[in-house]
Amino acid sequence: MNVLVINCGSSSLKFQLINSDSEQVLAKGLCERIGIDGSLTYQPAGGEKVKSDKAMPTHTEAIQFVIDALTDDKTGVVKDLKEIGAVGHRVVHGGEKFAKSVVITDEVMKAIEECNDLAPLHNPANLIGINACQKLMPGTPMVAVFDTAFHQTMPAKAYMYGLPYEYYDKYKVRRYGFHGTSHSFVSKRAAELVGKPYDAVKTIVCHLGNGASICAVENGESVDTSMGLTPLEGLVMGTRSGDIDPAILEFIAKKEDLDIAGLMTMLNKKSGVFGLSNNLSSDFRDLTSAAESGNEIAATTVDVFCYRVAKYVGSYVAAMNGVDVIAFTAGIGENASLVREKVMEYLGYLGVAIDKEANDSHGEEVKISTPDSKVDVFVIPTNEELAIARETVALV
Ligand code: ADP
Repeated sequence: MNVLVINCGSSSLKFQLINSDSEQVLAKGLCERIGIDGSLTYQPAGGEKVKSDKAMPTHTEAIQFVIDALTDDKTGVVKDLKEIGAVGHRVVHGGEKFAKSVVITDEVMKAIEECNDLAPLHNPANLIGINACQKLMPGTPMVAVFDTAFHQTMPAKAYMYGLPYEYYDKYKVRRYGFHGTSHSFVSKRAAELVGKPYDAVKTIVCHLGNGASICAVENGESVDTSMGLTPLEGLVMGTRSGDIDPAILEFIAKKEDLDIAGLMTMLNKKSGVFGLSNNLSSDFRDLTSAAESGNEIAATTVDVFCYRVAKYVGSYVAAMNGVDVIAFTAGIGENASLVREKVMEYLGYLGVAIDKEANDSHGEEVKISTPDSKVDVFVIPTNEELAIARETVALV
């Protein structure tokens, strides 16, 4: 079956058409500046990437252009819409309502909408994408795959904050966690790589991209993760602060005369390794090369990032009373060998031993611990689109 995977944002939409039997990507692309002017980037497998400007007043036009490109006589990869068996939609927040992917019905749409205030930037956009697809592809089954669902197995001791209980009771303020599709995909692959059943391994997945989170997976279930009610908590990220002393907010607000919106912009857009490096860059390629050529702020920034990762790994070893496998994934985890090496240096007490030659690789699946290392450490490239396609096929 061919599955169209859609990741819809407020002004952009990423898509891939995946054949679920061969697990090959038939075509992929991106619509940008929806509601502003609009452009479509489209690439069929083995073909050239083509970018064209197209007026996209709404997501409906964007999806129509995607369908046109996929079925085009010259660049298309299917003859008509009937060859697309299902659509898998990435949905960011499923709250406590969704512990699994689901086939989308009117009730499911309502329940996703009820989670809107937990992810005001993302869920409404995800719903717009689903509505547009339903309009243009009536009768094609659609599935929602949630970033939060995998973490619904966390116990209360991991998801409750030290805040008045009434906020949980009234507003469901708790840890939800994100990147669940990636943590699930990578931890399953990790179990395959060590040749153990998924429900008999303790794995720590370090998803280190622009947004970054760590997850403890025990016996096939997420038992803790570093992101919280929102994707702001946890690691130091590209531009997001991660964990800070909450009292810093009042202190900075008074000094800089910032309101809540100003504080949130500072925490989400101006902090993380970008802010920490004195606005040098949010990109680890820039930071590691600046650090290697003697830039002290860049070096400290990289150290802060790696130290925080190592501390989270240590805390999840405690949470699971051990660890069998550690996996690095996403842009930084798959590519930045310096970051992996620095993190692994902190983990000597666990018996982690790094294979420096293997760790020199970029973007490929590889074991980076030595054969006598007490914990197996891997780089495992994540593939959220393929994971969404698999979930979709399983449900339809
Ligand atoms: P997201 O999906 O959260 O936007 P990605 O998983 O694509 O992020 O990761 C993007 C980040 O990966 C970039 O900001 C960059 O810091 C890092 N990255 C990508 N390639 C490399 C590389 N070769 N070396 C170091 N870092 C890299």
